Amino acid sequence: MIDVNGTLVSKGKGGVYGEKMLGEYRVWDPYRSKLAALWYLEKSDWLKSSDVVLYLGAANGTTVSHVADYTESVYAVEFAPRPMQDLLEVSKRRKNIVPIYSDATQPQKYAALLEPADLIYQDVAQPNQAEIAVKHIDFLKTDGRYILMLKTRSVDIRKSPQEVFADSCRELEAGGYFVEKSIWLNPYHQDHAAIILRKAD
Ligand code: SAM
Repeated sequence: MIDVNGTLVSKGKGGVYGEKMLGEYRVWDPYRSKLAALWYLEKSDWLKSSDVVLYLGAANGTTVSHVADYTESVYAVEFAPRPMQDLLEVSKRRKNIVPIYSDATQPQKYAALLEPADLIYQDVAQPNQAEIAVKHIDFLKTDGRYILMLKTRSVDIRKSPQEVFADSCRELEAGGYFVEKSIWLNPYHQDHAAIILRKAD
């Protein structure tokens, strides 16, 4: 991922959502995007030019557009009509985004549109976030990675973020994943954890 004097950027046509430009680069704001926050906290290179990405919870395409700047193709799933309209506009301006208007709890409805993913990125802020990840395990390549952005307060407001995190990890492991690493996204996003998964052996 591209670092210009400590600022995360991506290379692509600007003006997608009013993002700042640094010369030819689009500034990727960690307060608006959990994936950018993860990069600032941990500086791993999550995106490669040959990657096929399945993106669940695309919203209006803010993060999707940056991911598309770095990768081969992005299959972007969103189920709310209003953000979907914006996502369609973003998709018109990027040749490698496939917008999918569908519900991520029912992957069988869009399975035929997909190809095996190098990376699945999930940011849906719903109670059943771990369940959604388990439902998508067969769409991940054997050596692929799953980044689950867990919004703990959407899962159970009565439990502490740490309890929700532990419960979710148990559910993910029971569903066939290995938790490779996890990072809390403070100070950029409160009560959110990035959980990096691989398929268990
Ligand atoms: N990832 C976006 C970004 O960084 O620009 C922000 C995503 S926002 C936190 C969560 C999005 O997930 C919302 O747009 C919501 O409509 C969508 N969503 C929630 N549940 C979903 C589901 N079951 N299927 C598809 N989209 C869903």
